[in-house]
Amino acid sequence: MERHYSVAIDGPSGAGKSTIARAAAQRFGFLYVDTGAIYRTVGLAAERRGIAYGDSAAVGALLGGLDIRLGHGEDGVQREFLGGEDVSGLIRTPEISRRASDVSAMPAVRAFLLDMQRSLGRSMSVIMDGRDICTVVLPDADVKIFLTASAECRAGRRFRELAAKGIDMGFDEVLREIVARDEHDSSRAAAPLTVAEGASVIDTSELTLAESIEAVCTVISEKLGVRP
Ligand code: C5P
Repeated sequence: MERHYSVAIDGPSGAGKSTIARAAAQRFGFLYVDTGAIYRTVGLAAERRGIAYGDSAAVGALLGGLDIRLGHGEDGVQREFLGGEDVSGLIRTPEISRRASDVSAMPAVRAFLLDMQRSLGRSMSVIMDGRDICTVVLPDADVKIFLTASAECRAGRRFRELAAKGIDMGFDEVLREIVARDEHDSSRAAAPLTVAEGASVIDTSELTLAESIEAVCTVISEKLGVRP
């Protein structure tokens, strides 16, 4: 049987995880799984139902009826479907970022999504990114990486991304959102963002995108003994 490898990448928002992990997955021929997008999809469902922030009972009641699916195009880009509707673009707004952070602190949501994430890691070699992949979802991953960058640097990247999409938010507001989300994701009781034991820490503050991809691929290559 062909050996399946698992690469787990955690880190705060805006560290470049998705772009870097997707590029690395393409080089190694692994499936890229963006778990943040799954939390965002649950957040979108909660938003559409008009559920109040923090109302875990209402979100819990919503979960059983949710039909969330992931699809991957030939280019390796993941798309998210909610009840059959492609919501990949709709989940990338600041409002849904806040929603995702809110619902992801609820233990029932994390338990609901755990099996889905783990089963994706069983079917083929994966690079999976999120907040608790090294610590909870794939604790036995072959490679564990914690990808980070300074808050200012991450805010700068997010600011440019939003501006490119025509979303008008000032840099200071983006920075405040990033710091608030870091704080919320790191201080929650359920699976807080933390550096897992044995994880390689890569700080991309001073690196270009190409250098960051190189740094991640080098760690993967060395740990797995395979070339990209
Ligand atoms: O990575 P992204 O910014 O898309 O994630 C959105 C939110 O989903 C994060 O702020 C975090 O609260 C939550 N999340 C999580 N666990 C993961 C991935 C994302 O709690 N594995």
